[in-house]
Amino acid sequence: MIAENLRRVEENIQKACKNAGRDRSEVTLIAVSKTKPIELLLEAYEEGIRCFGENKVQELLDKVDKMPADIEWHMIGHLQRNKVKNVVGNRVALIHSVDTYRLAEEINIQAKKQGITVPILVEVNIAEEETKFGISAKDAILLTEEIAELENIKIEGLMTIAPYVENPEDNRPYFRKIKQLSVDITNKNIDNVSMRILSMGMTNDYMTAIEEGATMVRIGTGIFGERNYSRK
Ligand SMILES: *Cc1c(COP(=O)(O)O)cnc(C)c1O
Repeated sequence: MIAENLRRVEENIQKACKNAGRDRSEVTLIAVSKTKPIELLLEAYEEGIRCFGENKVQELLDKVDKMPADIEWHMIGHLQRNKVKNVVGNRVALIHSVDTYRLAEEINIQAKKQGITVPILVEVNIAEEETKFGISAKDAILLTEEIAELENIKIEGLMTIAPYVENPEDNRPYFRKIKQLSVDITNKNIDNVSMRILSMGMTNDYMTAIEEGATMVRIGTGIFGERNYSRK
């Protein structure tokens, strides 16, 4: 099942790239494996997937230990400050979910201790949904400027979780808005800040996100099937 799902996802990614006149190599597929057992992750690995996304620290660490070493792990979920010390280091390639200065500060402290620089994305709540984490678009530039001062953090771009919609076209304006925000930030030429990554697009809307400039799409259900939270 996973091989077939991955083939369909790959086809759609290629189609969306073609629609937008973009090269396939500009888009990284992150397989979001939260709640899924190792066997399914291994199936995806066998099909060539090397980027996995998890949203809980303990689950991420357990899976890191059980999976092959050449995987790039992405922390895509809300991160509590007291858990930062567990994810900073070579286990996690990118933290997608930094939305407060206090969280960035804690990441910086742990990074400094280890003598490393930690790449992060600033999470933007582009539709200003009350139920979601993320900084509002209007405050994102200021937050980016503040975090940029932290020596052991490197901002690599923006991340957003668009609203859940049936019709992906409904999210196109939000994807456009965050792309524009990344251009605005680029134009400010802030030291220590790159906007090379735009992490947006999930199972329901990744083709639209790619058409609007996504460089990372985070796909769970479309690869691993529905999640069953009650069974855990
Ligand atoms: C679960 C999750 C995804 C994947 O969602 P699907 O709709 O299953 O593709 C992507 N991003 C984040 C931050 C998530 O928590």
